[in-house]
Amino acid sequence: MEGIYDGNMTFQELSKYGNYGLGTVNALDGEMIQVNGKFYQIKSDGFAYPIENNQKTPFAVVSFFETDKTIEINGPLDYKQYTEYIDESIHTKNIFYLIIIEGKFDYIKTRSVPIQKKPYIPLVKAIEDQSIFEFNNISGTLVGFRIPEYVGDMNVPGYHFHFLTEDNKAGGHVLDLRIQNQKVHIDYTYQFFMMPPDSEEFYKLNSNKVRGQDISIVEKGK
Ligand SMILES: [Zn+2]
Repeated sequence: MEGIYDGNMTFQELSKYGNYGLGTVNALDGEMIQVNGKFYQIKSDGFAYPIENNQKTPFAVVSFFETDKTIEINGPLDYKQYTEYIDESIHTKNIFYLIIIEGKFDYIKTRSVPIQKKPYIPLVKAIEDQSIFEFNNISGTLVGFRIPEYVGDMNVPGYHFHFLTEDNKAGGHVLDLRIQNQKVHIDYTYQFFMMPPDSEEFYKLNSNKVRGQDISIVEKGK
């Protein structure tokens, strides 16, 4: 949110911490998604590119996926109904959840962010130039997290989903979707381990309180 878009963690190192996840790449070069151990970046041209081991990330959330609960969507549900349905299916909002759907979607709207040049601008400004992509009747993998509210500015409270098409060629940060007749796999996650960016820019950051409205604009597009 504060415009620190470079980290020192390589994707090779990140893979030690999980096999499904999401985030971005240094210089905010697109949306990152990890599916079954493989990392992809969906750049602002709309294409998904495999990520090399030595590329680095300033922000990523990953976990080793194990299904604890599977729920069925009969639908059709829109994005809000989908997240409300998961809310009704979980027993507490005070732990972390990794949520996976591998299947077919009636509709998915995603975005990707353009690569940034220094001096970096805050994320809420950077996304003014975001690219929007729409998919109809598309197969792929939806990877997301539900993060408890108490985590606050350390992550994105609430739901955060990224998408990768079945052919591994497109996707992005999910802004909207419509779905029916799919299985949702939920992994209850009781631990949260965070490594702040190991960079001079981060060490020098004089962090201001991030406003909730900015998070809403960045994550939900409104
Ligand atoms: Zn995202």
